[in-house]
Amino acid sequence: MSRLFVVANRLPVTIEKQGETYTYRQSSGGLVAAISAYLSQDGNTRFAQKIWVGVSECSETVWQTAAGTMSADYDFKPLFVSPKTYDQYYNGFSNSVLWPLFHYFPSFADYQPSFFEAYLKINTHFADVLLQNLNNDDTVWIHDYHLLPLAGMLRKKLPSLTIGFFLHIPFPSYELFRVIPKQWQHELLSGLLGADVIGFHTEDYRQHFLSCVQKVVKAKSENQMIIYNGRQICTGTFPIGIDFDRFHNAASDRNVLAKRADYLRSKQDKKLLFSVDRLDYTKGVFNRLKGYREFLVQNPGYRGKVVFALVIVPSRDNISKYAERKKMIDEYIGNFNSRFGNISWQPVIYQYGHLSFEELLGLYTACDLALITPLRDGMNLVAKEFVASRRDRQGVLVLSEMAGAANELTEALLINPNDRKEIAQMIRMGLEMSPGEQEERMTAMQQRISSYNVITWAKAFFSKLDQARQQQNQTEPRLLDNFAKAKLFQHYTQAENRLLLLDYDGTLAPFTADPQAASPSETVLQVLAELSADSKNYLYIVSGRDSDSLERWLGHLPVGLIAEHGVKVKHPKTAWQERGTAATRLALLNVENLMMNFVEQCPGSFIEKKDFSVAWHYRKADLSISELKARQLYQLLSSTVDPAALSILQGHKVIEVKGANINKGEAIAQLLGQYPSDFVLCIGDDQTDEDMFRKLQGNSNAFTIKVGSESSLASYNLLTPYLVQELLQRMCTCDELV
Ligand code: UDP
Repeated sequence: MSRLFVVANRLPVTIEKQGETYTYRQSSGGLVAAISAYLSQDGNTRFAQKIWVGVSECSETVWQTAAGTMSADYDFKPLFVSPKTYDQYYNGFSNSVLWPLFHYFPSFADYQPSFFEAYLKINTHFADVLLQNLNNDDTVWIHDYHLLPLAGMLRKKLPSLTIGFFLHIPFPSYELFRVIPKQWQHELLSGLLGADVIGFHTEDYRQHFLSCVQKVVKAKSENQMIIYNGRQICTGTFPIGIDFDRFHNAASDRNVLAKRADYLRSKQDKKLLFSVDRLDYTKGVFNRLKGYREFLVQNPGYRGKVVFALVIVPSRDNISKYAERKKMIDEYIGNFNSRFGNISWQPVIYQYGHLSFEELLGLYTACDLALITPLRDGMNLVAKEFVASRRDRQGVLVLSEMAGAANELTEALLINPNDRKEIAQMIRMGLEMSPGEQEERMTAMQQRISSYNVITWAKAFFSKLDQARQQQNQTEPRLLDNFAKAKLFQHYTQAENRLLLLDYDGTLAPFTADPQAASPSETVLQVLAELSADSKNYLYIVSGRDSDSLERWLGHLPVGLIAEHGVKVKHPKTAWQERGTAATRLALLNVENLMMNFVEQCPGSFIEKKDFSVAWHYRKADLSISELKARQLYQLLSSTVDPAALSILQGHKVIEVKGANINKGEAIAQLLGQYPSDFVLCIGDDQTDEDMFRKLQGNSNAFTIKVGSESSLASYNLLTPYLVQELLQRMCTCDELV
């Protein structure tokens, strides 16, 4: 069994001195909470050993003293680095170039060459330490913007290593990325492309990355894949979740309830607004205060009846842009309170410092409204934690649409953080929202974030990593030329038991704008009839179509039919049988409801419902809207759907959701057992057919053909459905030719 190396800038532990001894505690923060939850999960037996690699915040001697006291579900591999180099790598390149630029603050970036040199140096140090410890079959999971070039450094030395990378902050559009000096751009992206899977929080970030890759390193990309240096790299959207149960259950914890009671007592009958963020210019604290000010100006009746608890957590205070901000916020709040407040009322209560978990939960659960207004935020976990903690299903979330979380928390009152009038309006709307509406919105958001939690997030990433490694075995397009055809015909004529597995759309019938119009041509019906009449042949149509359409078009032929990628099967001359469960049906109903909103928002798009799958088609919709909506829907589904129950397929202008263990590969596996064959022909055109090709890899009797010119797991390519028809026609006569 392989080992997992989680690699992040810092180790997830903080060492503390108590008297003469050192002890350690787990550090706080979203990344640590997320990864630790996955690594500590019961039944997580995928890896033989889990090791967290990161820079230690203490010296080697102190580490060795404290290490004896550590016990965790994983091991630690500390890096010890020179403080000066670390400063230039962390405060310099990471947080004074990449952070401001990737959060759309280009004027805050400071392009000092020494910063980039230190950045490469520390990344090289990470690579050296890892390479001393890694085996070829280990898996490395790299996190965040501090380590963008690391995957490439490892790939050079261990070409077959499995490497995943996840970016926890936004990826900016090319217009922003291009301001980085050219050579750095190239080194960052080519390094990143050393990974097998590169994950982002949102579909927009992923698209920006693809466009930068295309422009900077000139790598070709198709769907979610990039081809670079002869390798296929997969990209994906994985909106990070939270440990939902931890926050949900904490709301009834005794200590949390005590804190909550304290806060309720001190707010008396006033409405309580709450926010908490690290001190960071991206968090939009001024915009928030200006919006609140506008609210008090526009609604003087609320003065004295509302209070805003604003907590700022210290962060990166040795970077000047952060220290300056602290001073500005202090001054602004002082002026604010003196302008609006009086002896008996302060409109803003301000705390600069850390909150304990009980205090944080006490505030989440006591407040009437959480006001979260970042100017740009990769995800924003505070928003999700607030929602999870509200067991009472009360409270309103006012959330910036610039936060990644806004893609999932669509029932929040979404605001543009630069629009202070809108913030004021939404604060009022939130404070006056009926308990019924609060409950309705909170319930919808809780359902979403509880089903796609932090464990689902990590599992989805690893499942993509598995898929990416499999797809890398795909071959370059190789046309089925005359020589290959001759070999196929010869094998066919000599075989006694032949299994023919044919996809329908794009293989036997060309695509049409209306799926119902793609009925089989007379020629296709004729050729299928002839092939199935041969007693040596077992012919199956393996399709994503619903069973009714297949029955209507092909039911009269003595062929087997597989509908909805394997949900329903009809063996020749028997009745339809069904695979799938009631739970899948219920989960699909939720998906359908979600898709309905997109039909409303995107005229011309429509839903196709099948028994165990549901698809949103946008081929007839206006392209300028539909592409954006498709990205949003995909993103929303990725964060809603439990990958263990359902899987999401992105086809040609269609997004389809279906039962997870149902795919064409599983469907034909049964047939291969049922019909031992000395000749198998399998033809298909899209991603769902790759599951069949994968099943047939290594089968020396199988001829697998991909329709189209893309690379595939199939052995051969044929360019069009017309050429497929011609091939099948020749097969009908080749017995006679022998
Ligand atoms: N948090 C914390 N200490 C505090 C207050 C908050 O560790 O005193 C946590 C909070 O619970 C959340 C994280 O810090 O999990 C902030 O994550 P978010 O994505 O909102 O912002 P980031 O700081 O990562 O930009």
